[in-house]
Amino acid sequence: MDSPTAMNMTDALQGIGEAAQAGGGGTFLSLQNILYVVAALLFIFGIKGLTHPRTAVRGNLISLGGMLLAMATAAVLDPHLWHGWMWWVVGGVLGLLIGLIAAKLVQMTAMPEMVALYNGSGGIASMFVAGAVFHHLTHIAGQATTIQAAGATDVTAMHMAAMMDGGQPYQTFVATALSGIIGAVTGSGSVLAFLKLRGKFGSAMTNPLLKFGNGTFLAIAAIFGALLVINPEWTWAYWALAISALACGVFFVMPIGGADMPVVISLLNSYSGLAACATGFVINNTVLIVSGALVGASGLILTQIMCVAMNRSLTNVLFGVMADVGKAASADEVYAGKVKSTSPEEVAMLLDGVQRVCIVPGYGMAASQSQHVVRDIANMLAERDVEVTYGIHPVAGRMPGHMNVLLAEADVPYEQLHEMDTVNKYIEQVDVCIVLGANDVVNPDARTNPKSPIAGMPIIDVDKARTCIVIKRSLSPGFAGIPNPLFAMDNTLMMFGDGKKALNELVEALKEG
Ligand code: NAP
Repeated sequence: MDSPTAMNMTDALQGIGEAAQAGGGGTFLSLQNILYVVAALLFIFGIKGLTHPRTAVRGNLISLGGMLLAMATAAVLDPHLWHGWMWWVVGGVLGLLIGLIAAKLVQMTAMPEMVALYNGSGGIASMFVAGAVFHHLTHIAGQATTIQAAGATDVTAMHMAAMMDGGQPYQTFVATALSGIIGAVTGSGSVLAFLKLRGKFGSAMTNPLLKFGNGTFLAIAAIFGALLVINPEWTWAYWALAISALACGVFFVMPIGGADMPVVISLLNSYSGLAACATGFVINNTVLIVSGALVGASGLILTQIMCVAMNRSLTNVLFGVMADVGKAASADEVYAGKVKSTSPEEVAMLLDGVQRVCIVPGYGMAASQSQHVVRDIANMLAERDVEVTYGIHPVAGRMPGHMNVLLAEADVPYEQLHEMDTVNKYIEQVDVCIVLGANDVVNPDARTNPKSPIAGMPIIDVDKARTCIVIKRSLSPGFAGIPNPLFAMDNTLMMFGDGKKALNELVEALKEG
């Protein structure tokens, strides 16, 4: 077998390409590309639909249509897939079953973990697909003469020829290296993120050597990537690159923890898209290039939105420097002798005769699944001519949009959901603000204490409402792990208990009242 250098691969594959075009491969490829572009347009319209709760379901269905079209096009028009079709059918059915079961069984509160696993699977899949195609390419180049003789009847040759059409093996090898590096970093990083979210692994680890390990393994992976591009016959370089990048992914996620985990998951989501995009260049698949780029860009935008909402820079998040910003006061200093508790009956009396109520939900609403009861209470108050709104913080809960999804599931009208900036404009006119399982996103320390670890994070100013009722089980801190002076303020009453149970008791008290 000849040694498959980049240039003799070009010559060989261009010859095969001409044979393939003559044999009708070109017609397949152009129809395939037209359908892929239609699928890509469906993805774009689908994402547009996802930008508003009212059109989100339609957006999801449009994207699903795009995905089905892309899969059907690949299955019917990509000759490469006709060989060994059993494998992708079995893989596809297995994937479908896993997806369906996960969607049914996974709790809303465990969504970030599920997204982490999906990101990881996407990254690892990209790494293996690019690796397999790279091996196949070098094998094909080694047997170029035989394949050229086979001409248009050899479907693998047709596919490979189409892939290399234009004679740009370097583009393919660079894409292969990128796919391997980004895919492997995403894979191992996501698995570690999943384990951290599950509590199976410690939180943030701040040893400075971790940052060193991250950069070192990335540099080693890049060196193997360069070797692979220069000497494609060194197929081992691809797997050496993949192993180094897997190690880099572990070091990348290790220093991150606590409230920053959702940010890193969003970033890994973006990486999984970029890995898929690079793999699209490796296998010359238009729809994979476009959809990967869409995931990459939307993941980056989401990451940026989260960082802004937490008043953190991405560098701060990635290098775990939150704890260095300042030191929080101890719980004793903040709460001792100042916290007032209340009962559902007292709250029912307080709500009698008020005009404006604002409900500010947080992670505790998701944990207690109390969105349906909260809607019932809002309806009861509305029947008494009380104006009820919901104040939604962009990072309340564990994912952006977490609260919107839960409240939409409970059929709360979208018009009642107000963003943080809107609520803060009228919060002083609110008679009673009900804080349901929210903590960090309503912590006034972020606004008033420059030494607080969350200083500068935009919050909903619930402390400025006339009366604030906080529903949670204890004085435990939220995700950021710091005490909240709101709980000890003069105008705050704590209603201790599980969110759903406490609200059900409030419903009874309102009925009796
Ligand atoms: P939080 O600060 O984590 O506080 C949630 C509170 O819910 C806890 O203090 C807990 O108190 C209470 N809780 C838990 N289970 C409950 C139950 N069954 N019933 C009633 N209360 C319950 O939540 P948050 O105010 O929503 O803030 C979100 C945090 O996540 C922020 O720190 C944010 O920066 C971070 N984050 C979010 C995102 C995102 O995209 N959403 C992204 C990055 C970071 P008890 O244990 O006393 O009940």
